Amino acid sequence: MNQDLKQLKTKKLFLLDMDGTLYLDHQLIDGTIPFLDTLKKQNKRGIYVTNNSSKSVIDYVKKLSSLGIDSTEKDFYTSSMATARYLNEFHFGKTVYCMGTASLKEELNSKGIKIAKDKDDFVDVVLIGYDTELTSQKLYDVCWLLKQDLPYIATNPDYVCPVEFGFVPDCGSFADMIYNATKKRPIFIGKPHPRMIEYAIEASGYSKKDAVIIGDRLYTDILSGINANITTICVLSGETTLEDIQQSDIKPDFILDSIQTVYDIIKA
Ligand SMILES: [Mg+2]
Repeated sequence: MNQDLKQLKTKKLFLLDMDGTLYLDHQLIDGTIPFLDTLKKQNKRGIYVTNNSSKSVIDYVKKLSSLGIDSTEKDFYTSSMATARYLNEFHFGKTVYCMGTASLKEELNSKGIKIAKDKDDFVDVVLIGYDTELTSQKLYDVCWLLKQDLPYIATNPDYVCPVEFGFVPDCGSFADMIYNATKKRPIFIGKPHPRMIEYAIEASGYSKKDAVIIGDRLYTDILSGINANITTICVLSGETTLEDIQQSDIKPDFILDSIQTVYDIIKA
């Protein structure tokens, strides 16, 4: 093992992308369970970090459980959580129009954020998420509200979300639709912005030098780690190929085949 790889053994906080890194759809990637067990045995911390704002943390606990992974709500940091934190920091006490799922609204509400009933409520801030319950009425409302120059926020910039047959449009694509109508762009909260990674590290109590992010997407997972100035590992088990990395400006600190290789390094 080269010296650089040995540094990974000193890391204490592992920020983990899920799809493409720990599993593909409904199939665990080899090495995931031994890797997670080793983190526990070595008193290290794993936090699942996701840009998906359509599902609640409870949904993710259930999803991981169906794959044989035990987790609790404390093991996650989602773009919904980061958005709640951001709203409470920069728009405290304000009323938010949320183009998002019922589950996103519930999560924000549980963190003390007031959600507008409709566009005619006294709206202070416009928020869009990966709304899998999207209607044209909601798009109409957002465009109407943006006419008034309100602060405009989006949970995550991803253009697509992987599903069984390929991809469907995600929050970044919704933002483009709205841009075409309004010429307004939101402030994006999730990866690759370092904000979400910094919030997750802060909530964990560890410091940046203890942290490493592991993911399969260069322009979200790896870029967020670079932007937050922490160690990055790109695994080749998901979206990114070695060729993609060679052609990209986004260079991870380490390129490893899969989570199995990470496990081999940290267990040794
Ligand atoms: Mg991924």
